[in-house]
Amino acid sequence: MSTEKISAEPTATPAVSPVEGQRDFVRQIIRDDLASGKRSAIRTRFPPEPNGYLHIGHAKAICLNFGIATEFGGWCNLRLDDTNPGREDPEFVEGIKDDVHWLGFDWHELRHASDYFEVFYRSAIKLIEDGVAYVDELDAEQMRAYRGTLTEAGRNSPHRNRSIAENLDLFRRMRAGEFADGSKTLRAKIDMAAGNINLRDPAIYRIRKVTHQNTGDAWPIYPMYDYAHCLSDAVEGITHSLCTLEFEDHRPLYDWFVDRVDLPNHPELWQSVVAAGLETRPSKPRQIEFSRLNLSYCITSKRKLAQLVADGHVDGWDDPRMNTLRGLRRRGFTPAGLRLLIERVGISKQNSVIDYSILEGCIREDLDVTSARRMAVLDPLKLVLINLPQDHQETLIVPNHPKDESFGVREVPFAREVWIEREDFAEIPPKGFHRLKPEGEVRLRGVGIIKCEQVIKDAAGQVTELHGTLDPETRHGMPGADRKVKGTIHWVSAKHAVATEVRLYDRQFTVAAPDGEEEGKSWLDHVNPEAKRVVQAWLEPAAAAAVPEQRFQFERLGYFVADRVDHRADAPVFNRTVTLRDIWASKAGQ
Ligand code: ATP
Ligand code: MG
Repeated sequence: MSTEKISAEPTATPAVSPVEGQRDFVRQIIRDDLASGKRSAIRTRFPPEPNGYLHIGHAKAICLNFGIATEFGGWCNLRLDDTNPGREDPEFVEGIKDDVHWLGFDWHELRHASDYFEVFYRSAIKLIEDGVAYVDELDAEQMRAYRGTLTEAGRNSPHRNRSIAENLDLFRRMRAGEFADGSKTLRAKIDMAAGNINLRDPAIYRIRKVTHQNTGDAWPIYPMYDYAHCLSDAVEGITHSLCTLEFEDHRPLYDWFVDRVDLPNHPELWQSVVAAGLETRPSKPRQIEFSRLNLSYCITSKRKLAQLVADGHVDGWDDPRMNTLRGLRRRGFTPAGLRLLIERVGISKQNSVIDYSILEGCIREDLDVTSARRMAVLDPLKLVLINLPQDHQETLIVPNHPKDESFGVREVPFAREVWIEREDFAEIPPKGFHRLKPEGEVRLRGVGIIKCEQVIKDAAGQVTELHGTLDPETRHGMPGADRKVKGTIHWVSAKHAVATEVRLYDRQFTVAAPDGEEEGKSWLDHVNPEAKRVVQAWLEPAAAAAVPEQRFQFERLGYFVADRVDHRADAPVFNRTVTLRDIWASKAGQ
């Protein structure tokens, strides 16, 4: 059985082991910072917003942040970026923790941005006292109008020059809950004419009287992402803050807040964190941007993934059609296969779309060496070996892996009647068909050579059964055991076969860029109706005995996993993870 290697893809780079060191630009910056003495230890963080489950794109950020921490002997925090109350759900928090662990990583500490609400508040007061923040009263629409455009400078808000005392009073009253949602905003006083629009007096705090999952109703005001994120990094002592390219234009603002607040030199701002018993050694972190992972045939937006769940296109966040980490897990994808993908794709500043076949190739590569083999028949046709006695029955001893003896052997029952795959027989064989045909011969895997003697049909002309003979000279240990025939097919003893449900999964979308702009079409129009097909199949007994999440290669069919939710030994349910070969490459060539 040949499995495919990833080779054809021009974008794939050869795998390198982390020990040798991956040579991407982020790791190079870190090496340089260590070599020059600018940093003595490396601290990173993975900062998801708990408003959905993690998807395959997050795997890149996870592998990068946790991988770098491990490689350089530092640490990585898991930080839940929970600055948007109302959008966050404890269920997602648990899901994120679970998914990071599943991918093979562990965090130094679990933190929440909300652990630092007091730091953000005190820092804002410092900015006001330093004369670089003010309370504004423009509403959202006015603010947009005042902001200007890419080609046109913005205008100063009429409230920009309030006195420090007035700003302090108003901000304290914002915090005390005296004002209505949206009626006031705290803004940084930077430059309304800045070429970079992010620097045109960005908002720091807004009023939102919404209950927060961790802090309850303690805060009627919440910090903006650009303000909270860099200060969270600084207070945790993060050295390298790795984020995706869309934040490149935000970096000047990131640095502005970090420098103006200057946490390392102002311990009074982070006393609350120390008092809460949290380790803190504030730093001036450096933001470095890398390109997102985009995969063809996939959606990597939590909002859209949430819509697939809400609209019933899938059965939940962990539906094996979903490219959430839990969907991929349930589908049978392996952490090692995903890590291999990320390693192979590499880290750069170039935005690109990775072909889905590269992901499948990585999964196959891992599953090939880690999965025991079994036999299953998905679309059964009965074959009766008429030269065997009615009660013939034997037990074959079959290796579990063709290339790795450490997998051992198993017993496979064989008897006079077997199920074979319907598509392995052709009454009128097309050219080049090497499987079973009338009067033809084929090898039954592990048994010997059989010949098709008779084709039985029903009144409608449908083939219902085949009668054949087994050549006794070709059995194991017999002189003719090595006789060559062109095809080998798999089978399951009909008498011993265990009925199973098999869910055949395929790509979730029918087009490579479901998100692409197309006249009159929504991304939802590209959902693949064939992405899940359920069949009743037959398994050899040793496959049915699997535990949930146990993976096999079903010979000649693909890699399958016992469903982690629904599988039971007495009512097996298997999911197809991936076929043995790329069936989409030939589709594209049609
Ligand atoms: P979404 O838009 O789907 O909500 P997000 O980027 O807002 O995604 P976060 O939870 O904020 O999701 O992301 C946590 C971290 O994961 C961030 O550092 C973000 O840059 C990174 N990340 C998210 N998507 C990708 C991706 N496709 N490739 C690489 N990193 C990603
Ligand atoms: Mg986000």
